[in-house]
Amino acid sequence: MGIRKFTKRRTRLVLLGAAVTLLVVAGTQWRAAIRRGRSVPDEPFRIAGNLYYVGATGVTAFLLTGPEGHVLIDGGFPETAPLIMASIAELGFDIADVDVLLNSHAHSDHAGGLRTLQEASGAELWVSEGDADVMVAGGAGDTSLGLPLRVLNFLGMSRFPAPRVDHQFSDGDTIRLGPLLLTAHVTAGHTRGCTSWSFPVHDGGRKLLAVNVCSLTLFPFVSLVEPETYPGIRADFERSFETLRNLPADLFLASHSSWFGLSRKRRQRAAAENPAEPFIDREGYLAFIDRAEARFREVLAEQR
Ligand SMILES: [Zn+2]
Repeated sequence: MGIRKFTKRRTRLVLLGAAVTLLVVAGTQWRAAIRRGRSVPDEPFRIAGNLYYVGATGVTAFLLTGPEGHVLIDGGFPETAPLIMASIAELGFDIADVDVLLNSHAHSDHAGGLRTLQEASGAELWVSEGDADVMVAGGAGDTSLGLPLRVLNFLGMSRFPAPRVDHQFSDGDTIRLGPLLLTAHVTAGHTRGCTSWSFPVHDGGRKLLAVNVCSLTLFPFVSLVEPETYPGIRADFERSFETLRNLPADLFLASHSSWFGLSRKRRQRAAAENPAEPFIDREGYLAFIDRAEARFREVLAEQR
């Protein structure tokens, strides 16, 4: 064996090493950019009645205020929590008055900030039975992910500071805090316990039903046919479309702001006679479900 051959192999190894390093660096930078983009502070405002927007530009958080304490839905990424707290303070509310913490689903972009928010508020966290295990594990062991993402999850990606789970609930359960009443609709598929919340909001003389859609996103490599990504995932999605369609939603909310056109509606509200008007969007709500279901049918047809 000549020295040339050995040098060639070493060069190839060095090049391969450099390529892998570049990939890892690029991947890390890309992830950081996404996280930063989703953690940009956003001006808090009143959506309608006692319902306020306190989330970031991408990931949402909603504050429902009441005389006997407030309810906060979702905590964003770990780095979103301080922004949410600043938004609550800016609106003139006290984080210590938040007594109930709720979550759409146990993914790092919606559950990441819950522990910080829980520590700051002393609130009790309610998590669906289907998402509780993943929540207390800080995102580990998420079996609703497709295989490649599950491997990354196993290796430690998409983890978050685990909050304390104070209560578990199942589909149809309600949570009361003084006059506030929220109903849990387990709209599973995206995660095993993905929860959409519905609650009445009193705006002037009107009673509006707000629905915060958890997620109907189908991750890549999720299998809807046997062997399913988790047993029952296809049926869960089917039920979720039906459940959401049957809710008489007036105010359309979701865990990501782009899904319900937050920035557009925020602009429209400035010019509206009643600032709540742009958010009363049953049409947009149904169109969102239709689009998600069409995508689901497409993927299901391909997999069959
Ligand atoms: Zn998610």
